[in-house]
Amino acid sequence: MDFKQYIADVPDFPEEGIVFRDISPLMADGEAYKEATRQIVEYAKGKGVEMIVGPEARGFIVGCPVANELGIGFAPCRKKGKLPRETVEVSYGLEYGNDILQLHKDAIKPGQKVLITDDLLATGGTIAATIELVEKLGGEVVGAAFFIELADLKGRDKIEGYDIFKLMTY
Ligand code: IMP
Repeated sequence: MDFKQYIADVPDFPEEGIVFRDISPLMADGEAYKEATRQIVEYAKGKGVEMIVGPEARGFIVGCPVANELGIGFAPCRKKGKLPRETVEVSYGLEYGNDILQLHKDAIKPGQKVLITDDLLATGGTIAATIELVEKLGGEVVGAAFFIELADLKGRDKIEGYDIFKLMTY
């Protein structure tokens, strides 16, 4: 499937000079969303994934249907102050600023094989922070899956040594 036909390119969002890749048309198309999920499910099966973790909010959109299809759990990684119970946290650099991400302390069991999901890999800051959180809890990150990789931003250099799966590259 040519997934790029379902991506809306939005110039100058959220600031001038940035072309935002909007995945909402892909989600809005039942067939395309299902096929995207199917491909990530196949990838996850090959990695023996036991748990999925994704950063808010679009990491949920990618990861939850995959977890559901595999019959495994999903743990949300959230901005500071959103999770109600005891957390671990890391601060990270975004393409457009800085933030703190948290994960519930009991989200991952030590030794669990974890797949990280997000819609898009840009500079890699978000995914590196999510990996750090999972590893703080003793999880084994076996891969990271995205709809889109922005290759020019070299996010994969920030998570060298981790396996990356993506549906599209820009
Ligand atoms: P990174 O931390 O620089 O890799 O940025 C990735 C994070 O920013 C992801 O959680 C994305 O959802 C978001 N992001 C950055 N650029 C875009 C974009 O063009 N479209 C959609 N999300 C983006």
